[in-house]
Amino acid sequence: MQKKTIRDEEVSGKRVLVRVDFNVPMDLNGVIEDDTRIRACLPTIMYLIQHKARVILCSHLGRPHGKVDEHLRLKPVARRLSEILHKQVKPLMESIGAGVEHIVSEMQNGEIVLLENLRFYPGEETNDPGFSHDLSLLADIYVNDAFGASHRAHASIVGLAEYLPCVAGLLMEKEIEQLSSLFENPLRPFAAIMGGAKVADKIGILENIISKVDIVLIGGGMGATFLEGEGYGVGVSPVERNKMEMVKKIQQKAETLDVKIFLPKDLIVAEKLESSATVQVVSVDDIPGNQMIVDIGPLTIKEFTNELKKCKTVAWNGPMGVFEIPQFSNGTKSIATVLADLDATTVIGGGSTAEAVTQFGLTDHMTHVSTGGGASLQFLSGKTLPGIEVLAGFQ
Ligand code: ADP
Ligand code: MG
Repeated sequence: MQKKTIRDEEVSGKRVLVRVDFNVPMDLNGVIEDDTRIRACLPTIMYLIQHKARVILCSHLGRPHGKVDEHLRLKPVARRLSEILHKQVKPLMESIGAGVEHIVSEMQNGEIVLLENLRFYPGEETNDPGFSHDLSLLADIYVNDAFGASHRAHASIVGLAEYLPCVAGLLMEKEIEQLSSLFENPLRPFAAIMGGAKVADKIGILENIISKVDIVLIGGGMGATFLEGEGYGVGVSPVERNKMEMVKKIQQKAETLDVKIFLPKDLIVAEKLESSATVQVVSVDDIPGNQMIVDIGPLTIKEFTNELKKCKTVAWNGPMGVFEIPQFSNGTKSIATVLADLDATTVIGGGSTAEAVTQFGLTDHMTHVSTGGGASLQFLSGKTLPGIEVLAGFQ
């Protein structure tokens, strides 16, 4: 069902409570290390200001577990947003209660406040109806722009929808549109690139995506489990033996559907996951018993590149190697560079994969880099997200 957005609501003069994902990396002195998540919400905030709404922002930050933690106050976030917007963003010391209600009642059109960290209240994560109700007293309309938190059934994500009209913000709209586009008539050929640390985290995506794509390219740590399933020795690379059955099932399904799965033909191996380690390139049938897989090799990069160049749609989740260590990052960087140059729809999901693409400075060259780590994985697995489920839709 198509979801309603802020464009479908009359927001002028209204108190609009906007759930955003301002869960930014911040040091103990309140210095924000990366403000991507703040910037991602700007379209919604600007729209609401331009349309003369009274904007009440709310977010969680970190894991304070239902108690006030002085290091996790949202004040530094309000300051940064204020700098970006060249406009006052008033940080409040609480999220609910008479004091907050009073401040909100005196807001003028176009003004912005930021409520205190929602997770200072135990009712947020337990989805307590009392907490949702108290939040709802602050507003006339509730907007969810926190795609990255929408896989969690928390009070500010699902509970509020019981009490207020509930529509999508513009970031939420973009995330839903871009991620859904992969499954609704994608241009073909359509490739999925899968990697990352563990098969266990990705099996849901593989199961879902295998019936939608034409080819699957597998690298990263999960490649080891697939290779072992094919009978290769993978040295001391971690292998998820309890996932072998699932791997077999996926391979059988791929065969039935005529979807080709490409595994690495060569690999970079090292004796440990450290930058001081000596690396070597080895063929897949020649992995030394005392070494572990840390990246895909040059032949594999070449083969993956050739396949990707034929594609019109690519979904990517999971780095090809331990990209955090520069000498193990070549596979991930090469694949990211190929995607950046491709004349195709390229959609990136997963927190670490997005981080890698950002690190290589290629975000703007992709069709879409999802802001939702876990949420994007759940979406790609074909599961509904509780926060999206409760958004009002068109009949
Ligand atoms: P995402 O967050 O994008 O879903 P994951 O969290 O599943 O991705 O995977 C990212 C992690 O996988 C990275 O920290 C990376 O170092 C690790 N990784 C990639 N390849 C390997 C490998 N061959 N061995 C061990 N870890 C790997
Ligand atoms: Mg990750």
